Amino acid sequence: MSITTQLPVINHWIAGAHCSSSSGRTAPVYDPALGVQTKQLALADEHDVESAIAAASAAFPAWSELSIAKRQTVIFRFRELLVARKEELAAIITSEHGKVLSDAVGEIQRGLEVVELACGFPHLIKGDFSENVSTGVDVYSVKQPLGVVGIISPFNFPAMVPLWFFPIAIAVGNTVVLKPSEKDPSAAVWMAELWKAAGLPDGVFNVLQGDKLAVDGLLTHPDVKSISFVGSTPIAKYVYESAARSGKRVQALGGANNHMLVLPDADLDLVADQAINSGFGSAGERCMAQSIVIAVDPVADELIEKITNRIAKLRVGDGRSNPDMGPLVTAQHRDRVASYIDVAAADGATVVVDGRECKFDGDPNGFWLGPTLIDNVPTSSRAYLEEIFGPVLSIVRVKTFREGLDLINSGQFGNGTAIFTNDGGAARRFQHEVQVGMIGINVPIPVPVAYHSFGGWKDSLFGSSKAYGIQGFDFFTQQKAITSRWLDPATHGGINLGFPENA
Ligand code: NAD
Repeated sequence: MSITTQLPVINHWIAGAHCSSSSGRTAPVYDPALGVQTKQLALADEHDVESAIAAASAAFPAWSELSIAKRQTVIFRFRELLVARKEELAAIITSEHGKVLSDAVGEIQRGLEVVELACGFPHLIKGDFSENVSTGVDVYSVKQPLGVVGIISPFNFPAMVPLWFFPIAIAVGNTVVLKPSEKDPSAAVWMAELWKAAGLPDGVFNVLQGDKLAVDGLLTHPDVKSISFVGSTPIAKYVYESAARSGKRVQALGGANNHMLVLPDADLDLVADQAINSGFGSAGERCMAQSIVIAVDPVADELIEKITNRIAKLRVGDGRSNPDMGPLVTAQHRDRVASYIDVAAADGATVVVDGRECKFDGDPNGFWLGPTLIDNVPTSSRAYLEEIFGPVLSIVRVKTFREGLDLINSGQFGNGTAIFTNDGGAARRFQHEVQVGMIGINVPIPVPVAYHSFGGWKDSLFGSSKAYGIQGFDFFTQQKAITSRWLDPATHGGINLGFPENA
C-alpha cells in the first residue's frame, strides 16, 4: 500500500452529502508551508459529472418555486453561519493555499459582501410594469432563474471567487455545480456543509472535484445553462468558446498584468507602502496585484529606495503564525515564478532584491520565494509581458504621463490599474483614457464592492457580463416581457389583422 492511500481523501459533495468518486483518479493536495502532500483529491469521471448535474437538475423545480421569503431566510442563515465560523474556513484556506491567516479572513470578508448583497435579492429581481401602453393593455416583465449553473474557480481565492457567484445564483432560484481548483479544494466542500446547516435543500449546491474532464463535462452538458469561470486567460478563452458553442450563457474572467502609474507629484511614502501591499500581499497570487510600477521621471530612484527599505522588514513564513507573506501554492508554481527573475536579468534588467535569497520562518521544504524587486525591466521582456503571478515587483521607467498611459493601453490585459498623484486633472484624464476595467486613484487594489460589478477589459474578460453587482443578477436570471389585455366587455375592440399599434 502506498503512503498516499493513507491520506485523507477530499470527495465531491452531491445531493447534500459527501460522495466518493468512481474514477480512481486522484490529485495531490499540499500544505505549501510544509511542502508535503497532506490530502488526496478524488477527480471526477463522466459518471460523477452526470451525478452532480442530475442532483442539481432534480433540485431545481422545488427550489425555484420556493417563495422569495423562504429562500431569503436560507441566505440570511448562511450569512450568519459564515460570519460566526469564518476563522475555521480561513484555517482551511491557509493550510492548502499558503496565504497568511489574516489574508484568508480578508478574502472571506470580501465574499461575505456578496452574500449580504444576495440577502437583498427580492429588491433586485423585481420586474417592471407599464400600465395602459395601449388602450386597456399592460406590459410587465419578470425575471426567472436559468436552471443549473456551472461555476469553475481558480486556486488563488478558494472562497471569495466562488462567493462572487453562488450566493446570487442560489438566491434567485438556480441550482449550482461548483468545480473548484484542484490545488485547494476543501473550502468548497466546507461551504457546502455550511449551506446544509443553513437549511438549503439537498442538491441546490453541489461540488464536483476534478480537472479538465469535469470542466469539459460542465461546458458541454445540455442541462447546464450557464458557466461562470475565473482563471488564466488561455483557459478562460477556451471555456468561453466551448460553452458558447454549446449554447450557454458564459462569463469567463481571465488573467491580468496590472500597472501602477506613479506621477512625480505623488506621495512616495504612500506609493511605497501600497506597492508593497499590492505586489506582495498573498505572495502576489492575486489577479488585482499591481505587479508593474511605472515610475514617471524623476521618481524611480527615490521610490526604489523606499520600497527596498520596506522589503527588508517583511516577514515571510508559515501563514498560520500570521507573518506578512506566506509561501507560494506549489513547488512547480514557485519555480515558474522564480524563473522570471532569470529571464528579466538575461534581458538586461537589474535585480534589486532577489527573493530566492530571502530568509523565511518555516519548514525548509515549504514552497518559499521572498519578495523580489526588479528595476529597468525592458517592455519587450517576457518578464514584463507575461503574468508572473508571484511576489515579483517590476519597475519600468518612463519620461512622461502620456508614455506611461500608452504603455498600459498597449498591453494584452485590462483587469486593474492604479494612478498615484495629487493632481485631480491628471487622475481624471487617466481614468477616462485608460483601457482597463477597474481603476484605482491612490488606491492600489481597486476591487469594487459587491454592489458594483467586478471584471476587466480585453483578455481579462470574455463575455459581456462581469461578476456580481447588478450584472450578476442579470447574468443569473432571464427576463420575460408579458403584454396583457383583460377585455372590458363594454369596449371590445373587435377583429383587427393589422400589426399591433399603440392607440
Ligand atoms: P487556471 O486557469 O489554471 O485554472 C482555473 C480553473 O480552470 C481550475 O478550476 C482548473 O481546474 C481549470 N482548468 C485548468 N486547466 C484546464 C484545462 N486545460 N481545461 C479545462 N479546465 C482547466 O488558473 P489558476 O492557476 O487556478 O488561477 C490563477 C489564474 O487565475 C491567474 O491567471 C489569475 O490572474 C486568474 N484570476 C483571475 C481573476 C479575475 O477576476 N480576472 C481572479 C482570480 C484569478
